[in-house]
Amino acid sequence: MVSGQAILLPGRQVINGILALLVVALAVLLVANPTAVGWYWLLVMAAAVLGVLVVIPIGGADMPVVIALLNSYSGLAAAATGFVLNNNVLIVSGSLVGASGVILTRIMCKAMNRSLVNVIFGVMGPTEETASADDIYAGRIKSTSADEVAMLFDTAQRVVIVPGYGMAVSQAQHAVRELSNLLEANGCEVEFAIHPVAGRMPGHMNVLLAESDVPYDKLKEMDEINPTLAQADVALVIGANDVVNPEARSNPASPIAGMPIIDVDKARTVVVVKRSLSPGFAGIPNPLFAMDNTLMFFGDGKKAMLDLVAAIKESS
Ligand code: NDP
Repeated sequence: MVSGQAILLPGRQVINGILALLVVALAVLLVANPTAVGWYWLLVMAAAVLGVLVVIPIGGADMPVVIALLNSYSGLAAAATGFVLNNNVLIVSGSLVGASGVILTRIMCKAMNRSLVNVIFGVMGPTEETASADDIYAGRIKSTSADEVAMLFDTAQRVVIVPGYGMAVSQAQHAVRELSNLLEANGCEVEFAIHPVAGRMPGHMNVLLAESDVPYDKLKEMDEINPTLAQADVALVIGANDVVNPEARSNPASPIAGMPIIDVDKARTVVVVKRSLSPGFAGIPNPLFAMDNTLMFFGDGKKAMLDLVAAIKESS
């Protein structure tokens, strides 16, 4: 599994500074003497090591912002190559990728409530121990079944569905759409709460839900849905973890501290669909799973949704 944990090497700022100076010096030498292939390879190696060292201390909630930034760098590099090779296609396409990457980075920074400088220089990293999963979960987890959740939906007037990476992995989006249709047919109001970094790429959830024909007006952005979550009878979290972790609000030492989250814990009942108590991308436990109003529906996302649809059909 890919981990979002930052790797903090001792003395990394000094090493990075020396490497940055070395890269600049090598670049100057190479410009002065373009035929020196040895300098070129040394520059490639030093730049590659510098790139890795600059990125590995960045983890947790900052990761998507860095990915967007690196995407934009790839475009700028292609545009620069276009100037060297006198290739207009490379210049135009590279500039487009670079510019759109910068715009996306800015949008992500804004959505995550972080400045770019803050992200790159890792001012807010996972520096302290977070509580262990055993401390948080021991004796507090209540598991549920499809039949029980179907009964819960029987009386629910308003349901908010919060999709995450697990919905994408299990390809549950079509089953989720079927569930929402069924609930609406029973007179329930259904909305989807979309976190800007849910999944593994920007807009991941929007794309999947659009693919399964969920009407766009049912997708609500985090800022729009959060003030209304206290009025939700059920928040159904499917395969999301970090983006609904209340630690982001309450624990300043957490790797996701300060990341805006979807406040599902404020709903009357929270049903979380996932296979186990494993952490998400940030690698930290989630106190939401142990809250009094939370029920854990363990299983593969798609299978759980299909079981739920079958249970609702049976009970009506
Ligand atoms: P998370 O990564 O926090 O959690 C996903 C959860 O899905 C896991 O806890 C896992 O639990 C569950 N899961 C995995 N497979 C299945 C399955 N088949 N069925 C049901 N559940 C499953 O996801 P979120 O969407 O909440 O958060 C996204 C994270 O990724 C954030 O930390 C974000 O910063 C990061 N990120 C986002 C990017 C973006 O651009 N959107 C890019 C890079 C990183 P279990 O194993 O128990 O089933």
